[in-house]
Amino acid sequence: MKAVFLDCNGVISEERPDYIKNPDEFIFLPGSIDAIKLINALGLPVIIVSNQSGVARGRISMRNLKAIHAKMISSIVSEGGAITKTYYCIHYPDCEYRKPRIGMLMKASKDLGIGLSDSFFIGDKTSDMKAANAAGCTAILVTTGHGTEQRQSAEHLADFIDTDILAAARRIAAMSPAQSSNVTSSKDCIVV
Ligand SMILES: [Mg+2]
Ligand SMILES: [Zn+2]
Repeated sequence: MKAVFLDCNGVISEERPDYIKNPDEFIFLPGSIDAIKLINALGLPVIIVSNQSGVARGRISMRNLKAIHAKMISSIVSEGGAITKTYYCIHYPDCEYRKPRIGMLMKASKDLGIGLSDSFFIGDKTSDMKAANAAGCTAILVTTGHGTEQRQSAEHLADFIDTDILAAARRIAAMSPAQSSNVTSSKDCIVV
C-alpha cells in the first residue's frame, strides 16, 4: 500500500521560531485540511511523522504535546478528514526515529504495511527531504514554514517543489489515480 507522509509544523500548521508549545499556538495553514481530504479521496492513507524535540529540550510538556495533537486531529476529523497514524519523535539530539533518520517511516511501514518506495513525503525542511530520499519516497518540498529559508539546501533533494500542501496534494492527485480503499482514522499518536 502506498501512503502520503506529512511533516506537521510548517506543512499542516504554521511554524513558529520558538516551538508550538500549546494548542493555542497550533494554527492550520490555509488549505491544509482540504489537502488531507483530497489525499484521503484518492484512497491514500495520510501519516504524520513529526520531530518534536521541544519535549527533550524542556520547552513542550508531554501533556501539551498530547493536547496539541488532540486539537489537530479533532479539527481535521470535524471537517471530514482522516489521519491514519501520527508519529512523534520527542528526542534530541540522537534518536533513530528523529528525521533525517528514517525510523518513523520504517515503523509506519511495518505497522501499516506501507511500501515506502511507492509513497510520497511532503515536508518543509532539508531533514524531511533527506529522510524521504533515504526511505525511497517521492520527496515534495513545500515553501511554507521553513521551506523558503531552507530551499537552497533542500531543493536538490526534492523531486518536486510546491507552494504549499494543497498544491502538493493536487500534484499527487494528478500522479496517482484514485484507488478504492477504506482509509482508516486514528486519534491516537505514537511517541517514539
Ligand atoms: Mg516542518
Ligand atoms: Zn525519538
